[in-house]
Amino acid sequence: MKSSGLALVTKNLRTNGDCIEYAGAKRNGYGVVKVGGRQGQVKYCHRIIWEAYHGPIPNGLLIRHICHNPACCKLEHLCIGNYTDNMRDMVQANRMNNSAGKSRIKGVTPKHDRRYFYWEARGYTITRVKVKLYHGKDFFEACCARINWENQQKEPK
Ligand SMILES: [Zn+2]
Repeated sequence: MKSSGLALVTKNLRTNGDCIEYAGAKRNGYGVVKVGGRQGQVKYCHRIIWEAYHGPIPNGLLIRHICHNPACCKLEHLCIGNYTDNMRDMVQANRMNNSAGKSRIKGVTPKHDRRYFYWEARGYTITRVKVKLYHGKDFFEACCARINWENQQKEPK
């Protein structure tokens, strides 16, 4: 008998503070299970939990952790959003907003002009042509510009 994704997740949950974490395999900090046996598909635990209660996640949307704990599967700590929401969460959590001069977002770098400080977002096309995506004071806007651009690059196959 093949176990459903939900059964696999719920049998391996542990309370940690206010969160309920998946205690099994992780990928980038997120709990994962393989659904459908050995040849099965790897799925994120928090997405399985969310879908079990709310139904399928629409294309282009993702499930965010309001507790900023990627292993957490507590339904009350999950909410649906888009990439922009997710970026805003991350900046608010102070994980990467550092105007002193570092960014962990690929393609977003701090720049110093003679007179002022700004963020630059850029990308490169397949033919290595540089594309300027953003230039300005707002780190969050710069990240969004880069992430939206990355998503556009992926779309048509
Ligand atoms: Zn949590």
